[in-house]
Amino acid sequence: MISTDSLQFVKGIGPKRIQALNLIGINSISDLLYYFPYDYLDRSKIVKIEKLKNFINKNEEVTIVAEIFRQETRRTRNGKKIFILTVKDETGFLPCLYFHGAHWLSKMFNVGDVLALSSFVEIDKYNRPQFIHSEHDRLFAIDDDDKTNWKEKLNTGAIIPKYHLNEELRKVGIEQRQLRKIMRDALNRYLNSVEEYLPRAILNERALLNLQSAISHLHFPDSLENKNHALKRIKYDESFYFQLLIAFRKKEIEEDRNGINCKSKNILNKKLLSELTFNLTSAQQKVISEISHDMSSTKPMNRLLQGDVGSGKTIVSFFAMLSAIENNLQVALMAPTEILAEQHFATISHFAKNLNLNIRLLVGKQSKKLRSDILEDIGRGSAQIIIGTHALFQKHVVFENLGLVVIDEQHRFGVSQRAQLREKGKSHPHLLVMTATPIPRSLAMTLYGDLDISTIDEMPKNRKKIKTAIRFDKDKVKIYDFIRKEISEQKQAYIVVPLIEESEKVNYKSAIDEFENLQKNIFTDLKLGLLHGKLSSDEKRIVMEKFAKNKINILVSTTVIEVGIDVANATVMMIEDAEKFGLAQLHQLRGRVGRGTEQSYCILISKLDEKIKTTYSENKKENIERIKIAKKRLETMVATNDGFKIAEVDLELRGSGELFGMRQAGEANFMMLDVVHDTELLIFAREDTSAIVQSDPNLLRDEHKKIKNIFQKRFQHLLSFVRSG
Ligand code: ADP
Ligand code: MG
Repeated sequence: MISTDSLQFVKGIGPKRIQALNLIGINSISDLLYYFPYDYLDRSKIVKIEKLKNFINKNEEVTIVAEIFRQETRRTRNGKKIFILTVKDETGFLPCLYFHGAHWLSKMFNVGDVLALSSFVEIDKYNRPQFIHSEHDRLFAIDDDDKTNWKEKLNTGAIIPKYHLNEELRKVGIEQRQLRKIMRDALNRYLNSVEEYLPRAILNERALLNLQSAISHLHFPDSLENKNHALKRIKYDESFYFQLLIAFRKKEIEEDRNGINCKSKNILNKKLLSELTFNLTSAQQKVISEISHDMSSTKPMNRLLQGDVGSGKTIVSFFAMLSAIENNLQVALMAPTEILAEQHFATISHFAKNLNLNIRLLVGKQSKKLRSDILEDIGRGSAQIIIGTHALFQKHVVFENLGLVVIDEQHRFGVSQRAQLREKGKSHPHLLVMTATPIPRSLAMTLYGDLDISTIDEMPKNRKKIKTAIRFDKDKVKIYDFIRKEISEQKQAYIVVPLIEESEKVNYKSAIDEFENLQKNIFTDLKLGLLHGKLSSDEKRIVMEKFAKNKINILVSTTVIEVGIDVANATVMMIEDAEKFGLAQLHQLRGRVGRGTEQSYCILISKLDEKIKTTYSENKKENIERIKIAKKRLETMVATNDGFKIAEVDLELRGSGELFGMRQAGEANFMMLDVVHDTELLIFAREDTSAIVQSDPNLLRDEHKKIKNIFQKRFQHLLSFVRSG
C-alpha cells in the first residue's frame, strides 16, 4: 500500500492547501500520487532560436533554452503595459511578450538568468518570430553559485502534465506550476514507498509496467509512449478490483442455495393475462418465461433485464412479482427517484386492480403516522408489494419475508449495492434489475458479469415512430403554435429546460424562469405545470397526477422526467438546448412521448448554428470538434428511434462514463478506465481475477495478500465477500 501519510509532509503544502486538497478528495499522499493529469502538453521539442522560423503558425509548442539579455516594460498606445523579455542563445535573439502581469514579472527575472521557455511561435509585424505568454522554468539564476547543474524543468522542455484545478485550489495559490512542483516533490520522496501488489505472473502476462514506474510516468512521462504504457497499468488496476468484486460476487451467487422456490401457481398471472388490454409481445413472453424459470429454483435469481424505453418492462416485472406473491413472499420495487416510485405505484396498482393485493408506497416526507403504519405492514408481512426508492433498503425497514427485489433503471445501482440486498431477508431474495440503457452483449457481460441477461428486443406493435426534428430559436413561434394545436386536440406536451450543469440544484432555477416566461408571455390561456428536483415529493406527486389526468396541458421540467414517466396522452417533447444533452439522455427524454397510439413528436431546439459561426471565427479547434459531435448526436436522434443503434453511436462518439453512469457507480471508481474503449482490459482483468478467485478463494496465498489487503480496505462494507481466514 502506498503511504497514507498526511499531506503535511509534502513540500509546499501547508494547512490551507491541505484543506483545499481535501475538498477535491485528496486526503493522503497516496491520494495525491493518484491525482493524475487529465492531459499533457508536449513541449519536448527543444530548438535553437534561429530555427524558430520553421515553427511559425504551426500547431506545435517548442522549447528554447536561453539567457535573459534585456527586460523592459513598455506602454501601448492605449496605455496598457507590456512586459518584454529579450532572450538570447548562441544563434540569435528572441522577444517574449507578456500583456499582463508586467509588474510582478519585472521583479521575477534578472538579466543573466537562464530560462527554458515553451510556446507556440507567433510573429511580429515584420514576420519575425516571437513568443507570447510563454511558459518558463528558470534553469539557473544569475546569482546562483552552481551553474553547472540545471534545475529541474517542470514546465518546459518535456511532456508536461495538466491537472484539473478548481477555485479552491487557485485561492490557495495552487495553479498548474505549483501543482507540478508539489507533485514532483511528493514523487521524489514517496514513490519508493509505493508497493507493488500484482503478482509477477500477471505483470508479465499482460505486459504491464510496475506500479512505481506507472505512477511516475503518468505524472512526468519521458515519452508519450511511456505515458500510454503507464496509463494502461493504472486502467488495468481499476478493472482488476472491479472484476475481483464481480468474481467474488459471482462465486457467492453460484454457490448460493439460500433462495426460495417461487414456482408460479398460475392463478394470479392467468387472471392478469385475461384482463390485459393488449397482447404481450413475443419478446416479453420470452423474458417472462426466463424469469419464471429462474424463480423456480432455490438458487436466487440475479437477472438483468434490458429493454428500450417503452418496450414494456414494467408489466414483465409484474408477472415476476405475482409468482413471489403466490408463494406468500413480499416484493420490493425500487425506483431511482420518488416521482418514478409514485408512478410505479400508480401503474402497478392499476395492473393489480382486480387481484386484491396489498401494495404500499414508501417515500420520504410521508407523515410519521403513515410511515410507521407502512413499516408495520412490511414487518408483519401483510404488505405484499412495497414500492419506493433506495430508502427501501435502509436498516429500519424490516421485511417479514422478502422474496423478490425489482430494481428499475439499474445503472444507478452498483454491484456492491446489489450484493447488500441479499442481507435483507432470512433467505436470499430473487433479484431482477431493469435498465433502459441497452448495451452490447460483450460489454454487458464484463460490466454486469454477476448477472444473467435478458433482453426485450421488440416494441409493442401499436407504436408509431416518433417524428423527430432539429429546430432553432427562430422557429419558436411556429413550434409554440404547433404545441397549441396538439393541445387543442386534447393532447399534452413536455418542455425540457436547458441543462445548465449536471446538477439538479442549479437546473431548478432555469425551470422556474422558463415556466414563468411561458405562462406569462406565450401560453397565457393554457395550464402549465412545473417539475424540478427541488420540489417536495408531495408537490411532485400533485403535479404528476394533474398531468396524468390532463389537468395540465404543458409540463415544464428539468431532466427529472428523464426516466420512466409514463403519460400516454403526451405527444410533444420539446427539448431546449438539446445539444447539451447526451444521446442516452435525449433518447430517454424522447421516450416520454410515443407511449400511446397517437403520432408523437420530439423537437430538439439547438443553438448549434450560431455557435458554429462564432467558434469558427475564433478558430478553436477543440470546440469545433465538440460541436461536430453534438451535431452528430442530434442527427442520430432524427435518424433513428432504436435504442440499441443510438447506444452504438453513443459509444462511438465518446466514452462511456455518462452513458452507464459508471463513474457514479461507487465501487467501480473508474477514474481512468473507459469501459467502452478499454473493454479488452476489462476482459483480461476478468480472466485474471476469476483465476485467482477459483484457485485461492480466500486470498490466502502470499502473492495475494496485498491484493486482499487493498480489496478489504476499499470494500470494507462488503467484507463477507472475502471471508477472513
Ligand atoms: P419501459 O420498458 O420503458 O419501462 P413501460 O413498462 O413503462 O416501458 O411500458 C410503456 C407502456 O407500454 C405502458 O403504458 C405499458 O402499459 C404499455 N405496454 C407494455 N407492454 C405492451 C404491449 N405488449 N402492447 C402494448 N402496450 C404495452
Ligand atoms: Mg420503465
